[in-house]
Amino acid sequence: MPSMPEVTYEVLALRYAVFTDRYHHQNFILPPDDHMSPDPMDFYIFAIRGNGHTIVMDTGFTLESGLRRGREILRTPAQALLDAGIDPAEVKDVVLTHMHWDHAGGMPWFPKATFHIQAAEMGYCTGGCMCEPFLRRPYDLGDVQEALAALYSDRMKVYDGTAEIAPGITLHLIGGHSGGIQSIRVPTKRGWVVLAGDATHYWRNIRLRNPFPVVYDVGRMLKGFEIINSLADGPDHVIPGHDPLILTSFKPLNGNKEIVQLDLPPIG
Ligand SMILES: [Zn+2]
Ligand SMILES: [Zn+2]
Repeated sequence: MPSMPEVTYEVLALRYAVFTDRYHHQNFILPPDDHMSPDPMDFYIFAIRGNGHTIVMDTGFTLESGLRRGREILRTPAQALLDAGIDPAEVKDVVLTHMHWDHAGGMPWFPKATFHIQAAEMGYCTGGCMCEPFLRRPYDLGDVQEALAALYSDRMKVYDGTAEIAPGITLHLIGGHSGGIQSIRVPTKRGWVVLAGDATHYWRNIRLRNPFPVVYDVGRMLKGFEIINSLADGPDHVIPGHDPLILTSFKPLNGNKEIVQLDLPPIG
């Protein structure tokens, strides 16, 4: 673990959608005993700001995609960012953890952004694995086309593994959930925080070593849990991608209960 750099950042989780009609067994490969108990999923985008940088992690999905896939959108991800004082039209850097529909569906909201992605993810979502409907299901062709358009217009940076995108902020190739999912590590006042994204959907996936069932490579997903833990300063410094507990575990930003501050210690 490197020592903390001088710079630290504010880190926000912004909830924009929910999926309430969901049950325990849908979130774990090893079904728990109470497999039909309700186990809802939340949808977030994340923002990092400070030291002259504003970085958004993932772009969410549109109202149309949510309707098509049965997820209830509370407000667009673009509106969620505006509520936090971030204008998506002016954001310069967007990290795409991976190209799944609920993460890459909002690229047009960021017309000035450079998109940061792993080569393994671009290769995966445009390669032979997409011949398999099971693996293709979480992807939308329009999002992949949007990413290719960004690539062909010098608006994409493509990485092979670890990369620093702002002082102290690094991307880390994890894999497992998809061919090239990446997580972000951020220095904060409370230590190293890792925005895991879908490398662990819930805290229970990583803590119980019980993976989420949407997966390309279970072995890499389990190895990814180890990588994420090694990058973070503690279990509470690992932030999962879809866990409703995020909203109740951290302090709301300016009283807005849909946006919480991950750079501050957990509450309660
Ligand atoms: Zn995903
Ligand atoms: Zn997801």
